[in-house]
Amino acid sequence: MTPEQLLPDALLERIRQRAAGYDRDNAFFHEDLEELAAAGYLKLFVPASDGGPGLGLRAAAQCQRRLATAAPATALAVNMHLVWTGVAYVLAARGDDSLSFVLEEAAQGEVFAFGNSEAGNDSVLFDSRTIAAPAPDGGYTFTGTKIFTSLSPAWTRLGIFGKDPAARDGAGELVHGFIRRGSPGYRILDDWDTLGMRASQSATTVLEGAAVPADRIFRKLPVGPNADPLIFAIFACFETLLAAVYTGLGERALTVGVETAKRRTSFKNGGRSYAQDPDIRWKVAEAAMAMDALYPQLDAVAADVDALADHGSQWFPKLVGLKVNATETARRVVDLAIRVSGGSSYFRGSELERLYRDVLAGMFHPSDDESAHNTVANAWLGPLEE
Ligand SMILES: Cc1cc2nc3c(=O)[nH]c(=O)nc-3n(C[C@H](O)[C@H](O)[C@H](O)COP(=O)(O)OP(=O)(O)OC[C@H]3O[C@@H](n4cnc5c(N)ncnc54)[C@H](O)[C@@H]3O)c2cc1C
Repeated sequence: MTPEQLLPDALLERIRQRAAGYDRDNAFFHEDLEELAAAGYLKLFVPASDGGPGLGLRAAAQCQRRLATAAPATALAVNMHLVWTGVAYVLAARGDDSLSFVLEEAAQGEVFAFGNSEAGNDSVLFDSRTIAAPAPDGGYTFTGTKIFTSLSPAWTRLGIFGKDPAARDGAGELVHGFIRRGSPGYRILDDWDTLGMRASQSATTVLEGAAVPADRIFRKLPVGPNADPLIFAIFACFETLLAAVYTGLGERALTVGVETAKRRTSFKNGGRSYAQDPDIRWKVAEAAMAMDALYPQLDAVAADVDALADHGSQWFPKLVGLKVNATETARRVVDLAIRVSGGSSYFRGSELERLYRDVLAGMFHPSDDESAHNTVANAWLGPLEE
């Protein structure tokens, strides 16, 4: 099944038509999600044995890139569901079935979200400010605050993690699990009012003793960096699919820039289109060359994950490098598209104005610029001396 079959032109166009309204009204993309679910898009990673198309990360990245050309905020939020189902797929491909229930539940229509980010936690996955308290039945209760939970109006399963401080002789242990929508012990705040990516409705989730049963606790890891396959799987899916979204955003900005340049006419040059202006042509070429360097990088990294390629200690640099290149290239391309499009793009409601706001979110997602450069420098130069 190709991305065009999973996400047909007509559906893509309807999603594109709704994007401006969601952004203007700060509304969740309910209609998009309903249509994407009906089209089987949320089952992308579900194997044929469970009724899905059984696609891999490369195909998922192509699909997400395509979706983001229509609606970046919808694509970004859908990413969170695809990350969890993708993690289950990546682990299964490596002989680890600990998340097979995720693919089974996705096959039944459950929607997964990613509730990992915490305010002021720059250790990201390697420590947590949320407390995970063991319960007598082998489950845990979680207390803490998760920020930026995309899909908050719609998820039915939320992946979270927290720290059991007493475990491992007091060194602490990071415990991962899924809560169900409607179970007691969590609140979703009505606090999403941001510059861009407004339709993602990535609200704050307050965990107040949220209970996860023993059979939905899927990993317990030591505090600090470690090489558990779960960490690789999360990084591989998160960074690649995030890069796909921002690649699609940049691709769309270039298309809009080209269309606008062809439409605008120059009084000075006797009414000829700006597409004939050498300075404008230079900018369009610069944006196109930047995008051309990004597409194969996205494709190659995703294909290598599918092919179980062994990049050893270069895996993380490759993944964070892709994310940074995609988000930064998209920013530059949106900027160039705005420069060639002129003042019309400064008006509220213009597509480039929305893309300009949406693309800024790229710099906040992990790995941010500082952390990514640190990862790559460590891989090449070794860690900093004490
Ligand atoms: C559009 C969008 C969607 C996202 N979707 C998801 C998602 O679905 N799931 C997910 O897990 N993550 C998601 N993220 C979160 C993202 O990955 C980052 O974790 C997030 O952007 C925080 O970035 P930061 O570290 O720069 O913020 P921080 O600097 O940590 O700031 C975040 C908030 O915490 C407050 N804060 C900072 N330090 C402290 C402190 N010491 N004590 C108390 N409060 C503090 C800040 O004032 C701010 O309000 C999303 C981000 C964006 C932009």
